[in-house]
Amino acid sequence: MSLKSLLGDTEVSAQLSGLIASRRLPHAVVLESKDRTLAKNTATEIAKAFVCSDESVRPCCRCSNCLKVEEGIHPDLYTVNITDKKQAVGVGEIRTMISDCYVKPNEAQSKVYFIFDKMTVEAQNALLKILEEPPRNVQFIITTESSTILLQTVLSRSTVFKIGNRTPDEKDPKNEKAKEIAVEIASAIPKNIELPLLIATGKLVPDKAVAQKVLEKLSEFLSMALEEKYFPNAASPSYITEMSRTLRKRSLVKLLDVIAEAQEMLSRNCNMNLLATWLCANIRQSRHTD
Ligand SMILES: [Zn+2]
Repeated sequence: MSLKSLLGDTEVSAQLSGLIASRRLPHAVVLESKDRTLAKNTATEIAKAFVCSDESVRPCCRCSNCLKVEEGIHPDLYTVNITDKKQAVGVGEIRTMISDCYVKPNEAQSKVYFIFDKMTVEAQNALLKILEEPPRNVQFIITTESSTILLQTVLSRSTVFKIGNRTPDEKDPKNEKAKEIAVEIASAIPKNIELPLLIATGKLVPDKAVAQKVLEKLSEFLSMALEEKYFPNAASPSYITEMSRTLRKRSLVKLLDVIAEAQEMLSRNCNMNLLATWLCANIRQSRHTD
């Protein structure tokens, strides 16, 4: 089944297909959906594209890697299972997965790790390190009913795709406004002058819903910039490439944490002027971490 037939003709389906085709799918993907089966099927479809051995169209649905994924017998797909009748994936299971990450794939060029079940806080903390410094050719796909179940630190190192919502949302004027502001902030981050960042972050003040979307977008942009440190991509927008080129890996991770903290402040209903000031100051401090 193709992504399009699973997800319909939606923005998220186009986004995922584009990232897969250009081989720049972020190494950690969170699929958020109330529909567990849909999330699992989408995860499997992404995994198929990831291990497919065809050079041009992936997944080709014909090579032995594709066929084995379809049969559910591919040795390089690894599902983290809950052991011992527990309610959630624990730290032990994550540690076992992490040690497996450093073992070469069996048949494909790469390995895919699925986490379909809830994780304990300790398990998520154990997962953080590998999400920060992933081995090459490893893809993580986490599915969740709601991304609020996951720790902000995990989310800030992943890219979240909301699936199963077949109404295209790109025409929502708030989304467009939010993207505009997010691009403005992302473009201002690498610059050494103060004013553009101050102006751009100030635009978060009037509308909380827009601010929330801006922070989501920024987190996505920073993850893409971080990804480019590993896999340079000529097709990226200039504001992503510029962040990736001028900022260190550590700064990008630090900035992701700043955004996650801002999201938390927003969820606590903080004063919006305060948030904008805080964000501006913390971005400034984090962008050139030694
Ligand atoms: Zn294939």
